Amino acid sequence: MSVNYATGLSEYEHKGKCGLPETFDSPSEVHGKVEQLAEWIRSSRHVVVHTGAGISTAAGIPDFRGPNGVWTLEQKGQAPKLNVTFDSARPTFTHMALVALERAGLVHYVITQNVDGLHIRSGFPRNRLSELHGDMFVEECNKCGAQYIRSHAVPTMALKPTGNSCTYTKAKGIRCRGKLYDTILDWEDSLPKRDLDLADEHSKMADLSLTLGTTLQIVPSGNLPLAVKKNGGKLAVVNLQPTKHDKKCNLKINAFVDDVMKKLCCILGVTVMDFQRPVVSLQSVHTQKTKKKGPVILVDSELWEDTNTMDTSNGLRQIGPVKEENKLDDNSSKNVEKDSKTQEILSESIKLNNLNTESLELTEQDAERDLNSMKSAGFVESSESTCAQADGINKDNEHLEGPKPKLIKLEHI
Ligand SMILES: [Zn+2]
Repeated sequence: MSVNYATGLSEYEHKGKCGLPETFDSPSEVHGKVEQLAEWIRSSRHVVVHTGAGISTAAGIPDFRGPNGVWTLEQKGQAPKLNVTFDSARPTFTHMALVALERAGLVHYVITQNVDGLHIRSGFPRNRLSELHGDMFVEECNKCGAQYIRSHAVPTMALKPTGNSCTYTKAKGIRCRGKLYDTILDWEDSLPKRDLDLADEHSKMADLSLTLGTTLQIVPSGNLPLAVKKNGGKLAVVNLQPTKHDKKCNLKINAFVDDVMKKLCCILGVTVMDFQRPVVSLQSVHTQKTKKKGPVILVDSELWEDTNTMDTSNGLRQIGPVKEENKLDDNSSKNVEKDSKTQEILSESIKLNNLNTESLELTEQDAERDLNSMKSAGFVESSESTCAQADGINKDNEHLEGPKPKLIKLEHI
């Protein structure tokens, strides 16, 4: 990897339990449990998903405590096998499923411990995401706090200067000129306040917490999902290994996260798109008009969708301030009566042109426009998202044909 995250961290003894055996539920057990999970998602008011390294292993990025995890192998004196760079890693089915579920109004916030940037690169809205341990693709200004989302992994880690300067131009044309730092935490660094505060707030709002691919051993991230229990909500855990909070969860699914998400999206009737290229989506389509100002975010032009309005003079698109979401919005979170148009759309980059002045309520026209924009950017329905495949039925011939450039509504299983 261009930056080797694990070996770049300082020495640390308390890495938790590593290499615990994995357990696999039978197909019928998984089916029954996912049906239960789908029912809870449908009936929940505020669903918060907590993700860990287990959702990125299918992208070729090793986890930490699994049988072949970085820390597990380290204890054996071995090095992990790396066959992908952060730049070349592609979001997994689970990443894309979360994008679709958020768009469908069924997932309201995601909190991740992952630094691989795959949630942002998959198009998950930045204002509904907390990255608690940093992001390999993000630099932050030490003076004005502006964040830069880069198309390539930044050259440093552990909150060091990257060598770049802030180009953000404030009011009256004054350029900031602060120094940019990477956002990757070392073991004992404090978590980023803005992301942690929002994560804390949404965890407390949640009436359903779903954890995917994490053993929940790192604090405070690993304890956030427990907040749901204090207001009578439910905790569902998907992980092959035991987690720290198995005894407290209402449902434990021992299966690969991608398999669970395929079944789940199928049951919920949510179409999942294939990943084509990294696209940044700063704001949820459900975000309502607000005067609250969020962080300034600048995005590399490669990651920006709407080339017609892009200022390419410095290769950056300045977007912001971005609306922050820290209040439960009943209209958006209860909006589970899915507009089929809404479900089919992933990219809302076009909408971001008018962040400060327009409500981003999704109209049918907007939906059509975004859908066309998404198609022109090369998005197509996921080739992995048919119900038959989720059930393990062989569809090899169809798969060989590649993804079809047409949206198909999934049938319920
Ligand atoms: Zn600055």
